Amino acid sequence: MSAGMSERDPLGHPVYRDMPTTIFEKMSGRARETGAINLGQGFPDAQGPEEILRAAADALMTRSNQYPPMAGLAELRGAVAAHYARHQGIDLSPQEVIVTSGATEAIAASLLALVRPGDEVLVLAPLYDAYLPLIERAGGVARVLRLTPPDWRIGREALAAAVTPNTRLLLMNNPVNPTGIALREQELALLAELCVENDLIAICDEVWEHVIYDGVAHRPLIGFPGMRDRTVKIGSAGKIFSLTGWKVGWMCAAPALATLLARAHQFITFTTPPHLQWAVAEGLARPESWFDAMRGAYQASRDRLVAGLRGAGYVVNACAATWFVTVDLPASGIDMDDVAFCERIIEEAGVAAIPISAFYPAEPVTHLVRLCFSKADGILDEAAARLAAFRASLI
Ligand code: GLN
Repeated sequence: MSAGMSERDPLGHPVYRDMPTTIFEKMSGRARETGAINLGQGFPDAQGPEEILRAAADALMTRSNQYPPMAGLAELRGAVAAHYARHQGIDLSPQEVIVTSGATEAIAASLLALVRPGDEVLVLAPLYDAYLPLIERAGGVARVLRLTPPDWRIGREALAAAVTPNTRLLLMNNPVNPTGIALREQELALLAELCVENDLIAICDEVWEHVIYDGVAHRPLIGFPGMRDRTVKIGSAGKIFSLTGWKVGWMCAAPALATLLARAHQFITFTTPPHLQWAVAEGLARPESWFDAMRGAYQASRDRLVAGLRGAGYVVNACAATWFVTVDLPASGIDMDDVAFCERIIEEAGVAAIPISAFYPAEPVTHLVRLCFSKADGILDEAAARLAAFRASLI
């Protein structure tokens, strides 16, 4: 301990002092060590779209590698605005788009910019594990509305009861990781009404907006009545283009909000690598058929893993979006909680997964396990075969 630091003054901010490493990193680390098939952390195993990789490589060699404008290259800001106009009917100006180093940075910047000391932030569990520490570190207080399977439905009364006079923000994810659901039209309408009635700002983590199946269209909250000027819409090139390591994201909001968001962003990462921004701008301009093909391929992977698991006696919940399916352990005849099951399968079956309890701060749902299907057919088949053998060994 260095001079001047007393026993009563332990090192580090309380939010981080006792915090475990995120479950995604932990499970990927275990998979690397043990050689397990990694269906834990959500990332594809493919190289990524050739034409977008090529665009990034070309830009790296032929364009500037110095600081781009702080809020992002004009070309990418324009491409994001044009993309949302075309795909979601939203009318944004390029000045309302701030490019970030991934969606997690966008969430952090939004919270740092908008949470005032003591403000309450309404969140819906299950939730991405970054939300709560970021809210707390930003000086806010999280109010968690706990949702439960099988429907994960958001009810009007529960929502109203979670709001207090100190609530200033709603932080939400749609489509939802880890449940794989897309919020229903009435639920989005309820959330929008709640925001308008209580004068809340909504931070919408919509990173899965394009990874949605069975012909269903994504419905952005910013498009609901009264939401245009009170919503921060967050997107991710990593998810849209299957390039999670790129860490290119953005946050879109009306000018008064965007100005604040940019101030927070400028002192987190300041800028995002320019060659990646050029490539993402090109990617966003791809024709509708490109996005359909991407969705079609993941939908086939979803169906493949689900069929393999069901064939092995597992009960798998419906998945409308994301790269994840959830397995119901008790319904599958497995008498273990999610953490125990994930421990057993990584060691004994050689498959890494994520326990759903990791997405709850309290009173977790403990009977569901998340598996990522954005993998090659052979990997999915091998994982299903290993999990089949594991289940058979229990009976
Ligand atoms: N979104 C990823 C997942 O759910 C995790 C992102 C991360 O690990 N930072 O697996």
